[in-house]
Amino acid sequence: MESASRIYVAGHSGLAGSALVRALRAAGFHNLVLRSHAELELRDARAVADFFARERPEHVFLAAAKAGGILANDRYPADFIRDNLAIELNVVCEAARAGVRRLLLLGSSCIYPRDCPQPMQEAHLLTGPLEATNRAYAVAKIAGIELCWSYNRQHGTRFLAAMPTNLFGPGDQYDLQTSHVLPALIRKVHEAKARGERTVTVWGSGRPRREFLYSDDMAEACVFLMRLSEAAFAGLAAPGVVPLINVGAGKDLSIAELAVLVGEALGYEGGFIYDASKPDGTPRKLLDTSRLAALGWRPRIGLRAGIALAYRDFLARESAA
Ligand code: GDP
Repeated sequence: MESASRIYVAGHSGLAGSALVRALRAAGFHNLVLRSHAELELRDARAVADFFARERPEHVFLAAAKAGGILANDRYPADFIRDNLAIELNVVCEAARAGVRRLLLLGSSCIYPRDCPQPMQEAHLLTGPLEATNRAYAVAKIAGIELCWSYNRQHGTRFLAAMPTNLFGPGDQYDLQTSHVLPALIRKVHEAKARGERTVTVWGSGRPRREFLYSDDMAEACVFLMRLSEAAFAGLAAPGVVPLINVGAGKDLSIAELAVLVGEALGYEGGFIYDASKPDGTPRKLLDTSRLAALGWRPRIGLRAGIALAYRDFLARESAA
């Protein structure tokens, strides 16, 4: 990837995509191709084919997805599998047809089996049953990996799938019905503090463990991967290897510990209570990031600092709304 390369970031206004745009611009890439959802419907095969034929990007970051927290995934599985399969199918196939040199498809750590050994290695893909609450989304993302691999094998493309752990950061989704746990806790603690409430309700038992990565760290990892030398990138996306790499922070904590951390970051003095009627989901999902570390990448933004940055963004959005 060179500074003048035509780079398409699909999903550039979302949490992951907006971080990718920041990272690319900061690294001097100025020829970005961006289309809002209103300008380009990625579920529409014809629209995507026309877009690739006209714009001919050389590199693609596929960050567009239907994503959401445990409740949204559990309630709307048909939407999650349908939208994600359609987006991946259209973008990956048309990227191959248009001769895109490198493509990076973003997924999530929920692709690994529910009771996967920890930390979860790339080799654990498809070695056991998935967690029920997000199986539809996970199957769509596994199909995305298989799609990349199939094109690499049959057409000699260099398509890679990066699986980030739970992301958070600027532009996150703070709707309590659809959000992930970290933005939900930011909103809940902020509102409890503003209203002088003495408790915040946390879903589930508080015992599941999760790993969190600040979106800008994830974006830097993705740009780092797309800039690897031909030999290093081929080591990840050659026809003979599953084109899959984990992107994580290397540490996890329990949801109860996370709640305390968010409380501290926001200066909240109340306590937390647990709503057992809500699902826990996967007991633990910590990624093994040794492959990425061996290539020379490490995250920079710790969880505490990341929560403070995310809260600043939340406040800016609240006051603008
Ligand atoms: P998951 O990683 O796919 O399970 O997605 P989430 O980020 O939505 O949930 C992670 C864990 O946090 C689950 O055990 C949830 O039950 C728990 N959790 C606790 N409070 C909340 C909340 O207010 N919202 C969400 N989304 N999850 C919560």
